[in-house]
Amino acid sequence: MFDTLQDRLASVFKGLRSKGRLTEADVDSSMREIRIALLEADVNLGVVKEFIAAVKERLVGLEISKALNPTQQIVKIVNEELIAILGGETRRIRFAKQPPTVIMLAGLQGAGKTTLAGKLGRWLRSQNYSPLLVAADLQRPNAVNQLQIVGERAGVHVFAPEPGNGVGDPIQVARDSITHARNKLYDVVIVDTAGRLGIDEELMRQAADIKAAVNPHETLFIVDAMIGQDAVNTAKAFDEGVGVDGVVLTKLDGDARGGAALSIARVLGKPIMFASNGEKLEDFDLFHPDRMASRILG
Ligand code: GDP
Repeated sequence: MFDTLQDRLASVFKGLRSKGRLTEADVDSSMREIRIALLEADVNLGVVKEFIAAVKERLVGLEISKALNPTQQIVKIVNEELIAILGGETRRIRFAKQPPTVIMLAGLQGAGKTTLAGKLGRWLRSQNYSPLLVAADLQRPNAVNQLQIVGERAGVHVFAPEPGNGVGDPIQVARDSITHARNKLYDVVIVDTAGRLGIDEELMRQAADIKAAVNPHETLFIVDAMIGQDAVNTAKAFDEGVGVDGVVLTKLDGDARGGAALSIARVLGKPIMFASNGEKLEDFDLFHPDRMASRILG
């Protein structure tokens, strides 16, 4: 992901470097090229406009012709503004003062929620937390089983409805899991909720009801970075319907253009907190806006 964008930006900067002295026209034409490169990478139009305006405003204040190395200064400004678009600082989990910290996962089916639950559990365990995964996705017959398999691989316990108790009520399961975590001294509860193929009212209502029942410290929206502008639209719908504290981008290892995913933090006004870039449980980390900007700028 981002390979084409990276190549395009690298060639803009290479062109600038080869010039020695830069004229205003040089700078204008490179800003145009950057704009096109971002749009072609599927970055949201509003975000592109805001980004270009911010960079241009800073360039006006810069005495390009007298600067020792003007291209380097432009690269620096582009880098800083890109970091700002991506959310600025790395946003870490806000742990509860009084455990357990409750983290709710929401998103469309296939976004990578169940896999993410395992990744997050494993990651928390590596930092000496004692997480509990909760199977509150009772919509798909196989979802509980799938979470149990992921939990086993991650070495994290799974709280699920007793077999034979019928379909079960996901809200009750979520509520019971908090009591269970308190009794058994788990300090982070990760609640996996049902996904649907598209946004629907029932899904939103159920997620909102689960949220009201467990009062999470973090509600994370899990989104497949491969789905383009739909990622931004779905994120908005979930934020309006359920309320989202942060975003997790999955499938960043894919070959889509990826720009839409990069627009989410700015469009939503919510941070991207984690990045998932592979099917293995260890393909997961905090999202660092500065590292992502460096990756894009090469
Ligand atoms: P859920 O329906 O949201 O719970 O999604 P799953 O966790 O079942 O994931 C759906 C598919 O995406 C599975 O085949 C996962 O192995 C795959 N997947 C999840 N995360 C990633 C990722 O970061 N990269 C890639 N390439 N595949 C992923």
